[in-house]
Amino acid sequence: MTIAVIGAGIAGAACASELVKQGLDVVVFDKGRSAGGRMSSKRTPDGYLDLGAQYFTARAAAFKRQCENWLTLGVVTPWQGRLAIYENGTLCASPDQTTRYIGLPSMQKPVQQLLQQVKLNSPCRVDTIKYDGTHWQLYSDEQHLGHFSQLVIALPQQQAAMLLAEHLLQQPQLQALFNAEALLPCWSVNIELDAATSVPFDGIFVKGDNAISWLARQSSKTGRAPGEHWLVHFSAAFSQLHLEADAAQISKVAVAELQRMLGDDISVVQTLCHRWRYAQQAPDYPVHSHIYRTDLSLGLCGDWLNGGRVENAWLSGYQLARALSYD
Ligand code: FAD
Ligand code: NAD
Repeated sequence: MTIAVIGAGIAGAACASELVKQGLDVVVFDKGRSAGGRMSSKRTPDGYLDLGAQYFTARAAAFKRQCENWLTLGVVTPWQGRLAIYENGTLCASPDQTTRYIGLPSMQKPVQQLLQQVKLNSPCRVDTIKYDGTHWQLYSDEQHLGHFSQLVIALPQQQAAMLLAEHLLQQPQLQALFNAEALLPCWSVNIELDAATSVPFDGIFVKGDNAISWLARQSSKTGRAPGEHWLVHFSAAFSQLHLEADAAQISKVAVAELQRMLGDDISVVQTLCHRWRYAQQAPDYPVHSHIYRTDLSLGLCGDWLNGGRVENAWLSGYQLARALSYD
């Protein structure tokens, strides 16, 4: 039995890695040049910049064990960033005891570690899937990629919906998963300054009615670009409202907000803007862990099915693999 996994983010990688551990034959497909998905740091001439996932925490025992293993292998490290809250126009320290992990030297490193023993076909965008009652056939640009006895779709909700569109028409139960939007967008901007700011913080949770939700100093993370790079994440509400805005406009707002919140005079060298269409969990979308349909030899996993966050994406893939291998 050969299993196809579409998507090499943390959910697909966790699923594939666990299936391979169970002795199953697995092939992973990803449209990106390398694995990582929304955990990918951007490689620039100055070094890595985290535009997507910033760090991850571990609450479940299984994921804590996984993080311990990654620590031993040297592919993650705790982030010692000094934390603050920005609220009602004020910036104040907000330290806590939570361990926050980052990939070393980039966020995608733990994903790549999971895939070390797995066959990965990338870049390869799967655009058509067909089910004949016993096997799934996969295609990319009309090229046949193979037939598989099981299919795992480890994609963000909206991308999974596109791939499954034809099949959903005959599957009202599956279709129900796609009626409400699970993932909301996030505009992300990296701002390079020409000098260090005097702000004694590295990560700032922005609360209240602000366009921004998070600020972070990239150089506080081992392996990232040195120099003064500030990452700005916009809130889901702002990002939705300005989804089709021009990147230059969004960068301008980011610079003004950074200046306002840091309260320092800043001089910008350059900005780098990225729009994540599918980023953060919609607060009212239900949690399913994963979906496994034995009648269709089909599994679905990903953060959107399990409450967002890196840990929940990993758990979704891991739990689907266990369901599949014990079937
Ligand atoms: P993804 O990482 O999206 O993986 C899906 C993969 O599928 C991608 O690699 C993509 O290239 C591939 N793909 C898509 N379509 C196809 C196709 N047709 N064929 C082949 N491959 C395809 N979480 C935290 O815990 N902490 C944070 O600080 C944090 N910050 C975040 C900030 C931002 C801006 C964003 C966007 C996310 C953040 N998250 C954070 C959420 C976290 O990144 C995600 O929950 C997690 O990475 C999702 O993993 P996934 O495997 O479910 O999906
Ligand atoms: P976490 O425990 O560090 O944070 C969870 C939330 O708790 C924070 O968003 C913040 O509101 C609050 N919080 C935590 N520590 C705080 C402190 N010291 N002071 C003040 N508030 C504090 O991490 P987690 O639960 O693993 O969540 C991952 C993070 O990823 C969250 O911050 C989440 O917002 C973020 N995320 C962002 C996106 C995006 O698109 N921007 C997508 C997914 C997740």
